[in-house]
Amino acid sequence: MSFDGPANAIPTPPLRRLVLVLGDQLWLDNPALVGLDRQRDAVLMIESDGEARAVWNHKARIALFLSAMRHFAVALRARGWPVLYERLAFDSPPLKFQEQLARRLRALRPQTLEYCEPGDWAMAQDLQNTAQALGVRAVVHPDPHFLCSIGQFAQWARGRRELRMEFFYRDMRRRHRVLLEPDGQPTGGHWNFDADNRAGYPRSGPGPIPEPTRFAPDAITLEVFDLIQRRYTGHPGRLERFAWPVTRAQALVALQDFAQHRLPGFGRHQDAMWTTAPLGWHSLLSAALNLHLLDPREVVAAAAEAWRAGRVPLADAEGFIRQILGWREFIRGVYWLDMPALAHANFFGHDRPLPDWYWTGDTQMACMRAVIGQTLDLGYAHHIQRLMVTGQFALLAGIAPPAVCDWYLAVYVDAVDWVERPNTTGMALYANGGRFTSKPYIASGQYIRRMSNYCDGCRYRPQARSGDDACPVTVLFWNFLIRHERWLVRQPRTAPMARHVTRLSHAERLDTGEQAQRLLDNLDRL
Ligand code: FAD
Ligand code: SF4
Repeated sequence: MSFDGPANAIPTPPLRRLVLVLGDQLWLDNPALVGLDRQRDAVLMIESDGEARAVWNHKARIALFLSAMRHFAVALRARGWPVLYERLAFDSPPLKFQEQLARRLRALRPQTLEYCEPGDWAMAQDLQNTAQALGVRAVVHPDPHFLCSIGQFAQWARGRRELRMEFFYRDMRRRHRVLLEPDGQPTGGHWNFDADNRAGYPRSGPGPIPEPTRFAPDAITLEVFDLIQRRYTGHPGRLERFAWPVTRAQALVALQDFAQHRLPGFGRHQDAMWTTAPLGWHSLLSAALNLHLLDPREVVAAAAEAWRAGRVPLADAEGFIRQILGWREFIRGVYWLDMPALAHANFFGHDRPLPDWYWTGDTQMACMRAVIGQTLDLGYAHHIQRLMVTGQFALLAGIAPPAVCDWYLAVYVDAVDWVERPNTTGMALYANGGRFTSKPYIASGQYIRRMSNYCDGCRYRPQARSGDDACPVTVLFWNFLIRHERWLVRQPRTAPMARHVTRLSHAERLDTGEQAQRLLDNLDRL
């Protein structure tokens, strides 16, 4: 496949419709493409230096977006559609997306600028403003990729004091008739088999886990690599192990491969972590889903079908379906409900800068070294690694939420604002005050020891709360409990956490506080 194949002629301006396809809207069923007329309309796709630099992006994240966009442009051109594609070159001027769009609008003078609703709140504002400033009517098409529209979620949330994913998920199961009996009851008698899905690996290790299909970079991807190595040299991360699906055909292969080989072990070890198994039994489908290369309906159907065919236990199929039909849709709903306030949420008023080693993995804490190390290698860490290792450390250390959000947005190939921000702000940092979580997700180093082999190679001891080898996670966990004891004791879900602290003597509290302060004063050297 070549990106430099024949381009179809762009109609002479003024155009009737200019259809903008954003970098995470790479599917042919994009509603803005419906009714495209080759004689009067054109498609516009923009690679933007401003987007690549908005945060200090991992090289693999830039590569995935640019490669998938270029492959999609080839697919559009193959349909005979006129596609104007602004390609970044080594020496392209460092323009912002809106500037590039404005230039095109001035040159093409379309009657309407049409696009599917962006996933990103700020992008939605920018598009409206740019079109308005140039007197072009913006036509925004609702995004049918999701199983729950923004309006449906707002309706579900209306009047609820607390937003809880579990209730939303049950509604979604009923509404979409997924794993549902004719009488409306959940298949297997339970909505949720999470209790079966929390096991760590045995101490002997995870044993053999089928490797996911790797997609070797083709000529288009290699050209993107070359651009990145020259233009974004100093950016974090590596490209050597880049093997992500960049086309719909590849994404479908990845889905089938997961459903057949790793879904059967997905649920039980979902939360487990191990240095030699960075991917675990996980699907690695988030990036393909977020780029719209995969439709969540087909992903849910593949898991349900694997269970129906007897290839996968119900707990695994349900556990996986809950992530897609439940968490993914719920998180998007919360994002659109709570933006832009979500971007400023800082419940605990945390303001410390992010330690530099978040960008290098150069720390003595073996858990952080392992998770950040694999993140830099692959652009990937699974949910519990993000939540209970890098995320909870940022919470316990009092790092400013915007700095943490920028890091998560930069370093994961699947990162897009609408998923990353609620997960980071709401779930990992509790910065929105428990809007959709009933308590902060925190635990001592003992939890990490139970769920991984990280502590085996660590200079610290997970059970130690004082002394030179005290585990920073454990110390900061206890320090958090002590500092927030009065608040914790007031909520039913957090009161049990506070009870641990009540048992501490005055001297123990003092000692933990001092130990924590020493760590916090030396965060960059941990
Ligand atoms: P699997 O474990 O195989 O899960 C299957 C699918 O379920 C995922 O592909 C994903 O589409 C969906 N899913 C699971 N959990 C969530 C969740 N909490 N929110 C939304 N969807 C979910 N996910 C992103 O796609 N982009 C992000 O930028 C992102 N940032 C995160 C930041 C933090 C701090 C945390 C705690 C989680 C974040 N997640 C994000 C959610 C989750 O960690 C990833 O979706 C998951 O690790 C991707 O790997 P996978 O495809 O192998 O997932
Ligand atoms: Fe992490 Fe503490 Fe275990 Fe070290 S001892 S790996 S810092 S949890």
